[in-house]
Amino acid sequence: MLSSNPNYLRISVTDYCNLNCIYCKSRDYLHLSREEVLSFEEIAEFVRLTTEWGIEKVRITGGEPLIKKDILILLEMLREISALKNLCLTTNGVNLKEFAPSLKKIGIDSVNVSLDTLNPGKFISITGKNELQNVLDGITTARDLGILVKINVVMLKDINDAEIIDFLRFARDNSLILRFIEYMPVGKNFNEEWFLSNILVKNKIEDYIGLLEPYSIFNSESSGPAKYYKNSGLIVGFISARSEPFCSNCNRIRLTIDGKLHSCLFSLSEFNIRNALREGDEQEVRRLFFQTCESKKYVCDGLEDRFIPVSMSRIGG
Ligand code: SAM
Repeated sequence: MLSSNPNYLRISVTDYCNLNCIYCKSRDYLHLSREEVLSFEEIAEFVRLTTEWGIEKVRITGGEPLIKKDILILLEMLREISALKNLCLTTNGVNLKEFAPSLKKIGIDSVNVSLDTLNPGKFISITGKNELQNVLDGITTARDLGILVKINVVMLKDINDAEIIDFLRFARDNSLILRFIEYMPVGKNFNEEWFLSNILVKNKIEDYIGLLEPYSIFNSESSGPAKYYKNSGLIVGFISARSEPFCSNCNRIRLTIDGKLHSCLFSLSEFNIRNALREGDEQEVRRLFFQTCESKKYVCDGLEDRFIPVSMSRIGG
């Protein structure tokens, strides 16, 4: 049972991606027509409304948001919503170098970069593209501009789990916040054999650098499912949907590019706000928003026996 209404909205602005990660397989595209897709004005209006109903934080995700050249227009529109406290973005980093100065200018609060390996060959085998150097350049450019950058790593057994310590060194050397995200049963290519518990990842880190102390400044209500720890200057977060289910603390809802609200990645019900939004029917948008929040209270208590057959990029990872 959820303690309070969600305050964090994740918006998928495209289901397309310029990478094709083995565990995400984002090429499971929806092929939507222009008509079916929410316009930036519609997204901004929805965000404006939801800030009146409790939303404080918005994350732009996808698919890959930085393949959309006009994404800055949407970010500017959202930044102008004064009630929105936190505006952030999740990217694979391939185009981050080019976008970082504009993101800084707009005043983005943070950028999460997904990076699963520091090895150029392995990067190609995981993502299908030779883009590691571009991602690394994007990370350092954003960081040097003063943008808060968090690195999100999905650890997969026998694929990249030999790199846990390399990632620690990378984060420490580059003053970055590192987060380990547990592989979740999402997408047609889900392979249980790749699952690696964050308990093992944390143990391995502690064997190497010593005890990780809970980091209370980061473990605020708005941090949602991530649990943060600190060890001499290094901040490490764990998002452990399977080994430590966080459904009762989850503060997120998701909006897809075609206007469907999801209370949870694993919920089969969706609430389509597109028509109501287009017709300017604020009462109906409000009703659907609160119905989504209400359904969140009864979603689940962990991911045991749960599997969602569509890719993360469709729902907004
Ligand atoms: N393109 C952007 C990016 O790469 O960050 C945003 C979309 S991507 C779907 C968002 C995140 O979802 C990435 O960090 C990716 O690693 C993660 N992801 C995809 N499938 C996942 C799964 N089955 N379990 C856990 N994380 C997953």
